[in-house]
Amino acid sequence: MTKSNPPHPETLALHAGWRADPATHSVAVPIYQTTSYQFDSTEQAANLFALKELGNIYTRIMNPTVDVLEKRLAALEGGVAALAVASGQAASALAVQNLARAGDNIVSATDLYGGTWNLFANTLKDQGIDVRFVDPEDPEAFARATDGRTRAYYGETLPNPKLRVFPIGEVATIGRRLGIPLIIDNTAAPLLVRPFAHGAAVVMYSATKWLGGHGNSIGGVLIDGGNFDWGAFPERQPLLNRPDPSYHGAVWSEAAKPLGPIAYILKARVTLLRDLGAAISPFNAFLILQGLETLALRMRAHSENAAAVTAFLARHPDVTRVIYPGRAEGLALARAAQYMPGGKGGLVGFELAGGAEAGRRFIDALKLFYHVANIGDSRSLAIHPATTTHSQLSPAEQAASGVSPGYVRLSIGIEHIEDILADLDQALAAARLVG
Ligand code: PLP
Repeated sequence: MTKSNPPHPETLALHAGWRADPATHSVAVPIYQTTSYQFDSTEQAANLFALKELGNIYTRIMNPTVDVLEKRLAALEGGVAALAVASGQAASALAVQNLARAGDNIVSATDLYGGTWNLFANTLKDQGIDVRFVDPEDPEAFARATDGRTRAYYGETLPNPKLRVFPIGEVATIGRRLGIPLIIDNTAAPLLVRPFAHGAAVVMYSATKWLGGHGNSIGGVLIDGGNFDWGAFPERQPLLNRPDPSYHGAVWSEAAKPLGPIAYILKARVTLLRDLGAAISPFNAFLILQGLETLALRMRAHSENAAAVTAFLARHPDVTRVIYPGRAEGLALARAAQYMPGGKGGLVGFELAGGAEAGRRFIDALKLFYHVANIGDSRSLAIHPATTTHSQLSPAEQAASGVSPGYVRLSIGIEHIEDILADLDQALAAARLVG
């Protein structure tokens, strides 16, 4: 490695944003469990509040432990700045509210995590923000749904259950012509998909999943790519280009300039996080930092194990279909190859010939896999959507969302592959005997 080469993800995950504690020389990032910070003087306090100087004021808006997490995530993603928040839900809400207000709209892919769908279809709608849903299969659908008050495009890299990779570059290019940034939820594919390299402007994560990896902390993050010229589109992006009465008339695309291309994340922190208060606790930030240290190793192990699981399932006589980016067909396979040149992630779907009853029996027979409504844990997880997450939908709605009666979702962990396959094998046998 020459000196000019940027560090690799494995290295950034251990080093970015932190060397040692200036006060104690602690190598591990301390948990700064404090609400507030002593000001040096009234002058310094005034400068901090006026953003003339950057520094700690109050943990709802910033905290030194959280700051390391933010710097590390920004470095890992190839962005310029990040904002960690209380959950993935808070991150997706703030991602949109930072650009759109009542009367505005965004265009989003239909294929979304259910919580995001509810947020968009109900809560944001109640707040006057219209979310127009389009099929991400056709990127031009985003252009067709756009009007003069469209402020952002939104997509999920690897939405389950269909596991079709979102056409990031295609939609980002359409948006950039119009001054519309693409926000990507990359929760299921950290390091495997690089949304900024394909033109996304903002990346968000539920840190609850693979970033933390240990299933012990809820958290979320927004990352600013620093690659979108907000000031070039004053009519399209009024919230970043008009005086903000909540901050002495600051125009964020201008006010952020001395600090770098961080207008989007700066505004989100000092207005939305200040006002809505979805702060992450320093303790959760610390736990997510522990998880991040092994992110690159884990994503490789998740992907290798999941690929082996799909090969096993594809050979099994009771399995009618396996859903995995590496096993898609046509356009979906081409997009998986383009956007996920390496590992294809830990999510796997499959259909049991025996339908809903077989699906239920299979889940009940699992011994190693946990039966939970979560994904992205180091442990292997499973759920039968037709009788749980999607049970309130009609059969037709279930089919439209990609959930058939016999569909099972797996989030493959990093246990030894032989143990994972043995558990699947015995559960499939149990599902067949009584199914
Ligand atoms: N985005 C995706 C893709 C998710 O899977 C989830 C949670 O399952 C979320 C966002 C919401 O994250 P959280 O549960 O941390 O609020």
